[in-house]
Amino acid sequence: MARRAPDHRPVRPTWRCGTCGIAWPCSPAKLRLLAAYRLDRPALLAHLSALQAEAAAHLAELNPSTPPTDLTDRFTAWASAR
Ligand SMILES: [Zn+2]
Repeated sequence: MARRAPDHRPVRPTWRCGTCGIAWPCSPAKLRLLAAYRLDRPALLAHLSALQAEAAAHLAELNPSTPPTDLTDRFTAWASAR
């Protein structure tokens, strides 16, 4: 796991991928998470739920005038559906 290649981690507080610049999680980030948690899907969902809560707080702070969008699809739905 210790390598210096770009690893598609989220940049806080904008929650864009530090590697591709798109809204995190990007496809490579999803693949990396699925691989890392392939033996423990509940742990992946718990991890994503925590990140979703953190992102929701950050994004609400960045855009106080814009109602926060529902981040469930972006953060957790892709991991629970097969
Ligand atoms: Zn990325």
